Amino acid sequence: MRSFFSTLLLSNWAFLLFLMITAVGVLYLDSIINPDLRILLFSFYFMVAMFGSFYISYSIAQIVILPLKQVEKKTDEINAGDFGTELLTPEIRELAKMTESINGMAKRLKTQFIDLTLEKEKFNTLLQNLKEGVFAVDLNRKILFQNQSLHPSLIRPNSQSLSLDDAHIYPEVKFMVLEAIQERIEKKSTITIGNHFLNVHIYPLRSDDYVYIYLGVVLDITEDKQNQIIREQFFQNASHELKTPITSIKGFAETLESKLGVKEGSQEKKFLDAILRNTDRMIRIIEDMMTISKLENPSSLAVMEEFNLLDSTENICASLISILNKKNQTLEIDIPKDVLIKADIVLMEHLTINLVSNASNYSPDGKKIKIVYRQNKILEFIDEGMGIPAQDVDRIFERFYRVDSNRSRKEGGTGLGLSIVKHICKLHDWDIQVLPNPTGGTIFRISME
Ligand code: ADP
Repeated sequence: MRSFFSTLLLSNWAFLLFLMITAVGVLYLDSIINPDLRILLFSFYFMVAMFGSFYISYSIAQIVILPLKQVEKKTDEINAGDFGTELLTPEIRELAKMTESINGMAKRLKTQFIDLTLEKEKFNTLLQNLKEGVFAVDLNRKILFQNQSLHPSLIRPNSQSLSLDDAHIYPEVKFMVLEAIQERIEKKSTITIGNHFLNVHIYPLRSDDYVYIYLGVVLDITEDKQNQIIREQFFQNASHELKTPITSIKGFAETLESKLGVKEGSQEKKFLDAILRNTDRMIRIIEDMMTISKLENPSSLAVMEEFNLLDSTENICASLISILNKKNQTLEIDIPKDVLIKADIVLMEHLTINLVSNASNYSPDGKKIKIVYRQNKILEFIDEGMGIPAQDVDRIFERFYRVDSNRSRKEGGTGLGLSIVKHICKLHDWDIQVLPNPTGGTIFRISME
């Protein structure tokens, strides 16, 4: 295989040699032929030289043009997605290198194309078989894709490339998508379609901080919701059903105690006291269960009113003084006089009682409990007690969760106090955090903004 330059040079030299040899032949013939034929001889020589040079130039051009035409055809085919047959290797070295790299490129593109098609197939199969409904919207507010798990009332089936309006996207979801596109943020909400509860989450998909598409993920939580409703109804019914028999057991035990006239220190007295202590605890548990049921009921709305935080806190804490005195504990209230908050005053008092009595129960004798109001509507309940281990912090708001069940039962705890606190915060849209007190103990921080 030669380079283009050497092919050109060789053909030119060969042609020159040929011209020189024929010129010698012509000169020899010139000396022997009839002078009348001379003009014919020279014309013939001139014609041979002219056509010869034309033929050489044409052949050289063809050596280059034919492979280039092949390359042009091949690139057009690649463009059209046909990676078909390989190019033949031309004789010119430079062109051979070019066809080699084009053949290599076509091979690589073909493998990448197959890989991409496979990936796309995998993605589509996965997408269509997901339990979650998935759809994507581009920046022109058109549906890019959707899977078959989407509730048909949410987006009309087969709405690819249609606008949000033409896809009949559910109004609440359309509003979420438009808001997400406008503000370039995530949106999350639970919507109800008929008797279906759907969790809808819209995510912006970014690349180099530029959002290209918005992905919607829809999870049908109807079953969970129904189970939750059944659980809540059971909780509500059980607490109602238990309250009457327990109250009558307590009544009978009290009557028995007074009728029998049992002596102080006697076995009978000890047993009756144990019955009364336990019925009291059961009544407290039932009352807490009923409070949670009420707070969980969607129709239980907080009655919001504006009141002075210091006055209401001092009033309610007055009722806790006897508990604190038993353990020689002190309560410090650090709330500015002029702080007004908008909340349900009864629920606020319930929250304060639960947090202060926990602070007292889980602190040793003689310690101080503080209620401090800080800037940005933050209210903190601070104690110097035993603290809450980091691994339990996330779970202490769960019903009946106790860090140390023996101790909690001994303190007369129901295991529902913090769950009630959490529900009250949720009803007010407040955030509650549990932090370790740097000097030992626990801080319950409520952000009321
Ligand atoms: P309980 O009626 O058992 O006190 P709560 O729901 O009020 O139930 O509290 C759940 C658990 O969280 C308690 O059992 C206790 O272990 C822990 N806890 C609550 N408040 C405090 C606190 N201030 N300091 C230490 N531990 C606490």
